[in-house]
Amino acid sequence: MSTEKKLLCALDTLSLINSTLDTDVLLDIILRSIKQVMEVEASSIMLLDPEKGDLYFSKAEGGSKKVKEVRLHMGEGIAGQVAQTGLPMIVNDVSKSTHFAKKVDEFTKFKTKAILAVPLKVKGKVTGVLEALNKMDGSDFNDEDLLIFTSYGNQIAVALENAHLYHLAIYDGLTGIFDKRYFQVWAENEFARVKRYHTDLSLVMFDLDHFKNINDSYGHRAGDFILKEITSAVKSIIRRADIFARIGGEEFIIALPETNVTKARLMAEKIRKAVELMTFTLEGNSLKTTISLGVVSYDKTKEPSFEKLLHDVDQALYESKNAGRNKYTVYHQKGHLTLKKTG
Ligand code: GH3
Ligand code: MG
Ligand code: MG
Repeated sequence: MSTEKKLLCALDTLSLINSTLDTDVLLDIILRSIKQVMEVEASSIMLLDPEKGDLYFSKAEGGSKKVKEVRLHMGEGIAGQVAQTGLPMIVNDVSKSTHFAKKVDEFTKFKTKAILAVPLKVKGKVTGVLEALNKMDGSDFNDEDLLIFTSYGNQIAVALENAHLYHLAIYDGLTGIFDKRYFQVWAENEFARVKRYHTDLSLVMFDLDHFKNINDSYGHRAGDFILKEITSAVKSIIRRADIFARIGGEEFIIALPETNVTKARLMAEKIRKAVELMTFTLEGNSLKTTISLGVVSYDKTKEPSFEKLLHDVDQALYESKNAGRNKYTVYHQKGHLTLKKTG
């Protein structure tokens, strides 16, 4: 393959970066492309763990899978050097390099002869290292390889940064479920579909009961812990298609596509019961709490707006609070009269 052809192949994968491909899938495609274009035995992406301050193998192609269990300190091995200095490295005979970390080969039983490593950088900061090992024909890595590999490195850095920004924008930092903004965007699209095809859609909203007391008695950290525990319990109850979001400090919503009111109230009750049965163990204290829920289902005969549904489900939740908490209420409307059924 000519240099020009190789560069074109390398740049070709760039067009995939702004596609809707899953980052994991995208990185697999890039690594496979590297193996083919660079004609190497193995390639890998190492990422910097910001908490531990060391490097771990995020993806590897061609070598041993065991490599995922290996970590390198900053400055350790060729990758550690590249991460520390932010400069690429070519080592064509690792046995002669003082930087080479033998421990990786010893652990994986892979035989590294030559390494080409480039830093992955976002806004000048190193976020990881891209490595290629051993040219298939046994020849040395040269400046041309470095040029092509740098182009791959830049693509990977952009792909990873995009994924990171996307993650920050749509997920709530504490609980890891969707945030309010994502929910609103999703809901607008989904609601347009529901109105068009007259399919079912239900909403379940819930709020923790007397949560202020928990914060006041056991501290904010205890409160945060409970919020996380409850969200993970709810996540295990709902279906994959359901959209679960944190829309306030201790207020949550679940959108249930293709779900009528009968099924939605069953789900609300299941969640209510699950939370009621939970016991939270915190620094020797055993705590319990409950939630109040509201349920609303899209009624095609009324042609309501999504804002109206949100308003109604909030109203139903409010009724559950008024009726003594640890309950769900289904919103019903008949003419001007509002009737609620409380479970
Ligand atoms: P009610 O049953 O009427 O809902 O009573 P409540 O005490 O839960 O309601 P209120 O709205 O009075 O208080 C909500 C509390 O939730 C106040 C605030 O301290 C707490 N809270 C909100 N967001 C967070 C959070 O992210 N972490 C923690 N630990 N507490 C939070
Ligand atoms: Mg509350
Ligand atoms: Mg509240």
